Amino acid sequence: MKILVTGGAGFIGSHLCRHLLGRGHEILCVDNFFTGNKENIFDLMDDKRFELMRHDINFPLYVEVDRIYNLACPASPIHYQWDPVQTTKTSVHGSINMLGLAKRVKARILQASTSEVYGDPEVHPQPETYWGNTNTLGPRACYDEGKRCAETLFMDYYRQHNLDIKIVRIFNTYGPNMYVNDGRVVSNFIVQALRGEDLTVYGDGSQTRSFQYVDDLINGMTKMMDAKDFTGPVNLGNPDEFTIKELAEKVLELTGSKSKIVYKDLPRDDPKRRKPDISLAKEKLDWEPKVPLREGLLKTIDYFKSKDLS
Ligand code: NAD
Ligand code: UDP
Repeated sequence: MKILVTGGAGFIGSHLCRHLLGRGHEILCVDNFFTGNKENIFDLMDDKRFELMRHDINFPLYVEVDRIYNLACPASPIHYQWDPVQTTKTSVHGSINMLGLAKRVKARILQASTSEVYGDPEVHPQPETYWGNTNTLGPRACYDEGKRCAETLFMDYYRQHNLDIKIVRIFNTYGPNMYVNDGRVVSNFIVQALRGEDLTVYGDGSQTRSFQYVDDLINGMTKMMDAKDFTGPVNLGNPDEFTIKELAEKVLELTGSKSKIVYKDLPRDDPKRRKPDISLAKEKLDWEPKVPLREGLLKTIDYFKSKDLS
């Protein structure tokens, strides 16, 4: 099968390309390198079944493929807020282009949506039936509302054009191939600990997140792509919930770092808690995450140790 992965040079996209190649597929990796990195896919370049195309999905793309994973979109708050108009365009205009492509070539298309569609949730843990609590006017809106609108577009192409669509809502995911300057909490803390710098906890560190190792996500995403008669949306995340302060302490313990924890201002609209209800994924996909935080952190720490952090 020929599979298009948009955002394929990014953190999750690079793991997905590698996994799908390993399953014998032909991969077209499309990326504009806004946050993606050629280093992530360097080892795939010699494979005859792997093709890399520099392209911004805000422009139409004319290719022939059987399946599309639409991952293109910056995911770290510092990156998606750097050019918020481009972020919304990528989710909305980019999705329209990819849906148009899927319609023309009759490809199945999967959207990488996010737990951010639940905003700062008033329901805990979050099931797919919860409609969310987002702020249309705040600094996170370019990402949250862009992703919400993308879900709407996917559902309308499904109802109006009978398109074969899938929506996965991804919760905080971490692992090797995160950019050193990614800005998200797991990579920030590990890089800070390894450099001997202070770990920057925003707010008092009592806000929670549930961290999923990337291999578990790839397993869930590909199961969803292969599933019959199920469009989603479906949550993919690890329900083990930790405060950000607990995460900082764990990173210090596992790296053996002498760094200190310092407290910085909490960014506006930072969700107070987040934890997926994964009953639907268990029922429909027979999926649940397998990698505990400690094991995943150790693998990610090893990855960052192999990088030049100077
Ligand atoms: P990432 O920033 O590492 O990867 C995004 C990739 O998309 C990058 O390679 C970037 O260059 C590319 N890109 C951005 N805009 C583009 C455009 N207009 N055209 C072509 N390529 C473009 O982020 P990630 O963590 O790998 O996230 C991948 C996807 O998963 C994103 O859609 C993100 O919203 C979603 N997601 C990730 C998480 C997470 O915790 N990692 C959580 C929820 C959702
Ligand atoms: N965070 C932090 N220190 C950092 C980076 C992030 O305390 O150096 C906090 C952030 O305020 C949020 C949580 O960690 O409460 C997760 O942030 P991240 O950017 O990884 O993802 P989010 O889930 O907010 O999109």
